[in-house]
Amino acid sequence: MSSVVFNHVTKYFGENKAVNDAHFSIEEGEFFTLLGPSGCGKTTLLRTIAGFYRNEEGDIYFGDRVINDVPTHERNIGMVFQNYAIFPHLSVFDNVAYGLRARKMGKKEIETKVMEALEMVELSHLRDRIPSNMSGGQQQRIALARAIVIRPALLLMDEPLSNLDAKLRVKMRTDIRQLQKELNITTIYVTHDQEEALAVSDRIAVLNEGVIQQIATPQQIYQYPHNRFVANFIGTSNFVEGSCEKDPDSSGHAGIIQLLGTTRKLSLHKPYEGKVVFAIRPEQVHLSGEPASDHAVQGTVKSVSFLGDKVSYLITLPDGSVMDVHDYPGKSQHLFREKQSLFLDIQLERTVMYDSTGQEVIYHAGEA
Ligand code: ATP
Repeated sequence: MSSVVFNHVTKYFGENKAVNDAHFSIEEGEFFTLLGPSGCGKTTLLRTIAGFYRNEEGDIYFGDRVINDVPTHERNIGMVFQNYAIFPHLSVFDNVAYGLRARKMGKKEIETKVMEALEMVELSHLRDRIPSNMSGGQQQRIALARAIVIRPALLLMDEPLSNLDAKLRVKMRTDIRQLQKELNITTIYVTHDQEEALAVSDRIAVLNEGVIQQIATPQQIYQYPHNRFVANFIGTSNFVEGSCEKDPDSSGHAGIIQLLGTTRKLSLHKPYEGKVVFAIRPEQVHLSGEPASDHAVQGTVKSVSFLGDKVSYLITLPDGSVMDVHDYPGKSQHLFREKQSLFLDIQLERTVMYDSTGQEVIYHAGEA
């Protein structure tokens, strides 16, 4: 019963479509993340699933049941919020027991289930403590135990880690993912943190201004962003304009590309002629002291940032634009200095090429 289907769901605030025609499915047992910038509609979509908001258009299904008009308390969902929302005056045990008591469960069964949930979040030894003097990470574990103790069909999490420090966030996200897998609970997770989304999700939906831009696995979304917005929001992309014309020697969709003063060929997904924009990831450029090929582009190092596992170079190109390039000195043994002249070998066949508006993919390395 724990798959979720959105059939052309729209939610308005006045004239504003906070969620605009959401049309997709979440599989049973999936860890599904809603990702996007502030105000894109993530929380609104989550609250519509929870039943706090009513969608004006379309239908939401849990399994094969339309739940548009089912009240929140009948939806069998567990929720975890950014601000924990636990009862500060109740003990850890009583916080977790709350939902079970509301369901009029027997005392013995409550004891067993609460202790089981507290063990899962590693808090059983603190059962009698009062949350108000516990750390943020511990309070969020209480909230998590309270959400899962009722064995919900669906777990909804809204920025649950935002109030925690960076190191704890990484540990907690791993723990949440582990727990979700163990319990096999369909989970919908809201975050604006792309790294967090990539790390934990089975699939990610990227939203912008209420509209879903792409739904895919973390790898797919990183490698083949469907449009310029996604390429910009997920990871780092250097956007470089070029042009494309049909290759007269080819019977297929080969294109001749002009880019940064070089000429290259690519096998396109569809016929296209005109201006194009490439999204080039920092790791898709190889740096060297000498030109490595006849399409090497000369550049000058503007700045060098040593980031531990990698070095991030900002490189000024002949047209005055600046490209972010990552190098892994452990591998190449190179370290370039500021103002040094060098050559960039752009691995164009690994990049994604869009039409001039950035809305349509004309080329990427995977399947068409
Ligand atoms: P954030 O990451 O900042 O929480 P979000 O992606 O969750 O943002 P929402 O809170 O869902 O975005 O907001 C989506 C849009 O709906 C925004 O334009 C917001 O101003 C608007 N909105 C959200 N809640 C309400 C409300 N209760 N009344 C009116 N407009 C609202």
